[in-house]
Amino acid sequence: MDKFTVARALDEIAHYIELSDPKPFRARAFEKAARAVERLDEDLDELVASGKIYDVSGVGKATGQIVEELVRDGTSRYLEELRAQYPPGIFDLLRVPKLGLKKIGQVYSELGIASLDELEAAAKNGSLAKLKGFGSKTAEYVLQGIEFARLRQSQFLLPVGIEVGETLRERLVEVDEIEDAEITGSVRRRLETIRNVNILIATKKPKAVAQKLAGIVADLESLDDKTFKGVARSEVDVLFHLASPAEFGSELLRTTGSREFVEAFGEIPKAAKEKDAFRAAKKPYVEPERRESADDLKAKKRPKLLELDDIRGTFHVHTTYSDGRNSMSEMLHAARERGWEYVGISDHSQAAYYAGGLNDVRLKQQHAEIASLEDEVAPMRVFRGTEADILNDGTMDYGAKILSRFDFVIASVHSNFKMSKEEMTERMLKALDDPHVTFIGHLTGRKLLAREGYSVDYDRIFEKAGERGVMIEINGNPNRLDVDWRHVKRALDRGVVLSIHPDAHSVGEYNAMITGSWVARKAGLSKNEIFNARPLEEVAEWLASRKARRERVSS
Ligand SMILES: [Zn+2]
Ligand SMILES: [Zn+2]
Repeated sequence: MDKFTVARALDEIAHYIELSDPKPFRARAFEKAARAVERLDEDLDELVASGKIYDVSGVGKATGQIVEELVRDGTSRYLEELRAQYPPGIFDLLRVPKLGLKKIGQVYSELGIASLDELEAAAKNGSLAKLKGFGSKTAEYVLQGIEFARLRQSQFLLPVGIEVGETLRERLVEVDEIEDAEITGSVRRRLETIRNVNILIATKKPKAVAQKLAGIVADLESLDDKTFKGVARSEVDVLFHLASPAEFGSELLRTTGSREFVEAFGEIPKAAKEKDAFRAAKKPYVEPERRESADDLKAKKRPKLLELDDIRGTFHVHTTYSDGRNSMSEMLHAARERGWEYVGISDHSQAAYYAGGLNDVRLKQQHAEIASLEDEVAPMRVFRGTEADILNDGTMDYGAKILSRFDFVIASVHSNFKMSKEEMTERMLKALDDPHVTFIGHLTGRKLLAREGYSVDYDRIFEKAGERGVMIEINGNPNRLDVDWRHVKRALDRGVVLSIHPDAHSVGEYNAMITGSWVARKAGLSKNEIFNARPLEEVAEWLASRKARRERVSS
C-alpha cells in the first residue's frame, strides 16, 4: 500500500470518528498522521519494518498502529468496522455547506439520513428543522445547499487553492532538479472559486521531476510529456506544467490564462521572465488578477491597482457584544497591531436577535467600553458604528434617535432572502434613502458555493447609492466576496465609492482584508476609489460632515 493510499485511509478514519465522537482531538490526530505520511520522503514499508514509523513527527501510538496494519495487511480492522457502521456514500453529504461531520452524524443517528435525496426530503417535510441545533433557518439553508452540492462537484474557495498551492510550491523548490516553481492558473488570477490548482515548474530534467512528483501528490498521471495531474490532500486536483527555465516566463503567462486573455495576446515570445514576454510582444503588462478578459490588453490607460499596503483602516468589525468571538479590547488591539490608523466597530442591531444584536442598554455599555479603551489604542481612532438590519419594509432597525449616535451605519439584509428581485430592490432603495446609512453591507448576501445571494437590480441600487453618497462595501470574507468584482465598474460609473471590509468576527478574520483587496484588484480599482485607503483625517472629516448634514436634514 503506498503512502497516499495510507493517508486516504487515515483521512477516512478521521471523518468517521468525527461523525460519532464529540471530541475533535481524536479525529485531528488521524488527520495529522495522514498529512505526515503523505509528506514522507523515506520508504514507508521500511519505516514500518524498522519500527521508525513511530518516530515520524505527527504519527502517534494509536495512529502508528493503524499505519502498520494498513501497510502490512492492506486494510485496517478499525476502518472496516467504521465503514460497516454507516451506509456508503454518507460523506456525499459533506458537500452540503454548513453540514459538518458532526451534523451529518446527528442527522444519520436521529433520522437515518445518509444521502442527498433523503436530506432534501427531511428539509422539505420539516423533520430536519426539529432536530436540536437546526431550526427552520438552518433547514432552509441546507435545502439551498443541496442544490449547490449537486452542482459543485469539486470546486473550492480560493483560500483552499492558495494553501494547497503554497504548500506544494514550498516542497517543490526544495527538489534538486527544480529551479523554480510558481502557482499559476485561476489561483494566480485570484478567482473566487477554483476547480484545480496549477503549478508551473522550471526544470532542465523533466523526467526526473515527473518521478519526484509521484511522491508529492497522489494518483499522478501524465497528460502529455510536460503536463501532469495528481490529487493533493485527498481531494484537490493539481496540474503541474513543466517548462525549461528559458521559457518559464512565457509559460507562466500561458498557464495563468484566462483562455480569452491568452488568445487575445496572440503569440507569446519565449522568455525566462513573464514581464519580458509582455515587453517582447510590445504589450502592456497586465496583472494576473486582470486577465479574465482581454480588456486591459487593449486599454490605453490603466490605473495602478490597489495594494494591500494602501489600506489605512477598516470598518465592519464584530465583537463579543454580538456574535464575534473576540472581545472589544482584543479586536481593537489586533487592529492597532495591523498598523491601521482607524477601525470601525459595528456589532449587529437588535433585529438580529440570533446574532446577539444590541439593545439600547448594551449599546451604551459598548460605547462606554470603547471610550475606556481609546487611550490604550491611540493614536488609532475608533469609530462607533453598527451593522443595522434593513427590515422587510426597507426601514432601518433602530430608530433615528439611536442611529444618530453612531459615527457610521452599515445597512445589511439578514432576513427574508426569498423576496422577489423587485421587492428586494425596493427594500434596499428605501434603506439608501435613510440619511444615517453610510455603507451597504454584503450587497447580495451570497455565500460562495453555499447559497445564491438575493437578486437585486444592481443598476438602480448603484444609481441611488451614487446620488445619496452611500458607499458600497466590498466584503472581504472569502465565503462572500460581495459585491462581486464583475459589477464594480457599473457602481464606479455612477459615482459610488467602495470600501473594503473584513466583516471580522475574530482577530484572525482581519485577514479578510487580503481577500477583499484581491476583489478590488480584480475589479481594476486603484487606491483612489477606495474609501479606507484614505488617511484618518480625511475619513474622519467625511464621516463628520455627513453626520452634520443629516442632523440638519432631521432637525
Ligand atoms: Zn452581515
Ligand atoms: Zn457583519
